[in-house]
Amino acid sequence: MLFYLYYFCTNDECKFCAKVSLEPGEANTLSALGTECPLCGDSLRKRSLYTDGYDYRGLTFKEFIYATNGLGLPEEIVTHVEPIVGMLESSKIVKVKAEEFDDRCVIKSVTLNNGITLHFAASGNGAVVYKATRRNKKCQ
Ligand SMILES: [Zn+2]
Repeated sequence: MLFYLYYFCTNDECKFCAKVSLEPGEANTLSALGTECPLCGDSLRKRSLYTDGYDYRGLTFKEFIYATNGLGLPEEIVTHVEPIVGMLESSKIVKVKAEEFDDRCVIKSVTLNNGITLHFAASGNGAVVYKATRRNKKCQ
């Protein structure tokens, strides 16, 4: 039997709210849940009861853990090469988020002129685009 928890972003302008479905066994790992809003980065607040008047985003427990730990909402997780390569080859980079680490330049993300930000992580095979985000969206 599933049960649900409801999470709301504390940033009034963000409006992110999620209805998280949990299996009974998953309730024991609630401490693994992040508390960072996947859209704006502000804190999330939990409620155990449904509150009317919100447009809830339905997420499984696993999807919610991914989203609140910075790995992206389901539609943001990149799984195919062609759309990303096509986007990079046809767009202009308008912003680069980078930092120095161990005398190396680490590119964290690039934002393209189509409004999409590609987020990178390292792998033995090269850079991994692990999520593609478009900000300024409301609760979906
Ligand atoms: Zn938020």
